[in-house]
Amino acid sequence: MFIHNKRLMYTVRVSEPNPRLASLMLEQFGGPQGELAAAMRYFTQALAESCPKRKDMLLDIATEELSHLEVIGSIVVMLNKGVNARMAEGAEEGELLRDVFSGGESHTTSLLYGGGAALMNSGGAPWSAAYVDTIGEPTADLRSNIAAESRAKIIYERLINVTDDPGVKDTLGFLMTREIAHQKSFEKALYAIEPNFPSGKLPGDPEYTDKYFNMSSGKGDERGPWNEGEQWEYIADPMAQSTGNGGDGDAMVRLSEAEVALARKAAMRTAGREGVDPLTGADLGAGPGAGSTKNLGAAAKIGSR
Ligand code: MN
Ligand code: MN
Repeated sequence: MFIHNKRLMYTVRVSEPNPRLASLMLEQFGGPQGELAAAMRYFTQALAESCPKRKDMLLDIATEELSHLEVIGSIVVMLNKGVNARMAEGAEEGELLRDVFSGGESHTTSLLYGGGAALMNSGGAPWSAAYVDTIGEPTADLRSNIAAESRAKIIYERLINVTDDPGVKDTLGFLMTREIAHQKSFEKALYAIEPNFPSGKLPGDPEYTDKYFNMSSGKGDERGPWNEGEQWEYIADPMAQSTGNGGDGDAMVRLSEAEVALARKAAMRTAGREGVDPLTGADLGAGPGAGSTKNLGAAAKIGSR
């Protein structure tokens, strides 16, 4: 069960209202790299986790992300506070409307949500469960979590760079730092599983695991540790990249005799005729700029009959 403590995880000190900044902060409230997405990501993984130690870690971090959600949501509400109060009390209409709309997308939070924090991103897109990519296999989920923490950290960095409010900067710095701590925990948990690569149970086919295909050829072909050295077989020739795998490289399927007859019938019905150059609507209605068309002569043209 969940028990709520009214003390925020980190004290929120906002210097002054700023609806425009509030809209940007929504990115970490209801956006893809935001705190609700993080909480739901780890919570769904925890429910299915069979290792008691990892389950405990995931529940701890999922719950902490909800605490972060509360902190970032409180920042949004404080930044919208002044406009919200003036709207509720019906102060100076014209000026108020200007202030609301001068906040970029802030009309979404100020008008529709009464100054509250809406579960949407900074562009107004509603939060989506599609942000959560839990697959139920720890070696895949932990890798995804590590990347998610990196992305959350980067968004916090960008938000820190767009505000000069010292209190907001300080709180965002705390939230950013906690994502670093989470990334470290997930990395440790991943490497505590051995083997952890490749994810899942089935081994890869040794015929293909160490091949690098130079699929994009031309100027700018580069070599690096990702395609050179003892671990790699570099296939430079584009024509050698079809493995063929013992066949002629065609797609095939076995059909019954009746299905073969029907498939042939369908192919014959739709086959293109040989040796024809049919007259088309484009030829008949051709005007200036039509390019090469059939020369029909003026008499054949519609409108001159
Ligand atoms: Mn967080
Ligand atoms: Mn986190």
